[in-house]
Amino acid sequence: MRMAILLSPSEQALHTGLSLPPGTLAVMTAYQRQAGHEVAQYDLDTDLVRAWEAGAVGCDDLEFLYDKARVLAYLSGAADAEIDRFCEVLLAGKPIAGLDIVGVSLGGSFSWMPIHSGFLLARFVQARFGVTVAIGGNNIYYLTLFQDVYRELWDVLTRAFRFIVVGPGHRALDTIARHAHEGGWPPAATIVDGLVHREPDGHIAYAPKARAEVLRPDFHGLDLSYYQHWVTDESTAPDPGAARAANAEQLFRWPSSLIQYAQMVYRRHPPRGRIPRIVIPYTFNYHCPYACAFCAESDRSDPLVIGDAESVVADLEFLSAEYGTPYFYFYNNYFNLSKSFVKKFCAEVERRGLRIYWQDCARFNNLDADLLTRMREAGCQTLWFGMETGGERLMNVVNKRLTLDQVEHGLELCRRLGVWANLEMIVGFPYESVEDFGRTVRFLHGHRDLVNFVQANRYFVVPSSTMGRQPDTFGMEIVRDLYTYGSLLDLNRAWFRSGRDLSSMPNNFDIYGFDETEGRDHGAIRREGQKRLNLLHAMQRPEFYETRQMLKMLHSIAV
Ligand code: SF4
Repeated sequence: MRMAILLSPSEQALHTGLSLPPGTLAVMTAYQRQAGHEVAQYDLDTDLVRAWEAGAVGCDDLEFLYDKARVLAYLSGAADAEIDRFCEVLLAGKPIAGLDIVGVSLGGSFSWMPIHSGFLLARFVQARFGVTVAIGGNNIYYLTLFQDVYRELWDVLTRAFRFIVVGPGHRALDTIARHAHEGGWPPAATIVDGLVHREPDGHIAYAPKARAEVLRPDFHGLDLSYYQHWVTDESTAPDPGAARAANAEQLFRWPSSLIQYAQMVYRRHPPRGRIPRIVIPYTFNYHCPYACAFCAESDRSDPLVIGDAESVVADLEFLSAEYGTPYFYFYNNYFNLSKSFVKKFCAEVERRGLRIYWQDCARFNNLDADLLTRMREAGCQTLWFGMETGGERLMNVVNKRLTLDQVEHGLELCRRLGVWANLEMIVGFPYESVEDFGRTVRFLHGHRDLVNFVQANRYFVVPSSTMGRQPDTFGMEIVRDLYTYGSLLDLNRAWFRSGRDLSSMPNNFDIYGFDETEGRDHGAIRREGQKRLNLLHAMQRPEFYETRQMLKMLHSIAV
């Protein structure tokens, strides 16, 4: 079959540029090509950035994406010349007519530009070219999670589209491509992985999701120049060791916002002595055996998938050679999920003499000097650890299954073996007292020499998590009516209009509040959570800010 797969564009591309080639799109493409389909893949972020930079699209032209009435009307079949034009700009030069199917991925950022633009593009493709569309991406799952809020949208979607898929969509797209033209197909929604249907009572349900698969991404057909980082050429640098260290610092030590900023500055003014390199995203384990109560993984509905270590390293060797880069960001739930996997992985990297540099998530338990030494020798630069909170009382409440001793030991190991340790923290858990938060602050302050970067977030309720499903157990009462579909769009439109940076973008997951049954109400919890979050942000290392200022200066001199 002849197909195109479109990744819908996002707000982030306009604010920070494109840091990584799209891994999920490339994995989907790889699967379909292996299945024998002729596939063209398009990351529409690149088309949006191109149109934006050329002045063909501006802020005003995109505001309709936050206009509920216009989006729903278009999806219901109403004419709208401005939306047509938007779709034409993004699809310019792409041979859509005559294809057997177009897959549209909405991505997984839960922001409204990719969600709405993906649906609008799907409707445009159906109406203009008469081509079958299948829609997927993690954002679909999120829309089902909060379906009570998005009922109007789901009403329209289930009328407008035959194929909307939740979960890994690789097998579903292949199946739909082969059978969609058959009259009366599918005979039952359940024969397509994750296929969405509307039940008689209006509930949005879906067929069992596909099991995740470890697949090597295939980026062929994408314009990779959009994702380049400019690093020092180690082969010609007078001091290759120093060049290697500076490159590692740029790609693995700096926080993502700084990496993206450097990329944006360098893209406009490529520095002398530097060469472009991409960083490849790659995932080889899916889901998690732990069940931290706040985390979506705690619903345990998806089976654990761990790639075969030898095949994973073979993939890395292929990708490194094929795309001319030693740099990888792994997107696993955590790398040291199985000690035997880690040992095999590291041994295989050594056996192949592979020189790669990478980062991933990890847990402090299941980590020792021997394992971390092997990981470091296999190219590990940075590990992200979910610590969440600085006190064991709250760690136990949220079932983190971690002790402060393990955290301290892990941080010291990282420092000793030369791996940058980043921490993920959460403030605003139910009943987080001043003392609990004080423990977090004291821990971070006391270990500031061991921690490279702290990613702090405010707690919000994930409906499928243990805390979302059993709020009583945690002394919580969920408050569901704080936002509507329309009010969330208004918030997002105001943010988009203001041109504010991504750090102030509304969190569209943070829809439900909660009252403590024996304590504060949701308003006080949010306010205090925000204050605590600001305090943690203020504790960040000053050198990242200073580096940003330096880049800003370079940028202004070059201009
Ligand atoms: S927070 Fe991390 S360790 Fe805990 S369940 Fe989620 S993915 Fe697993």
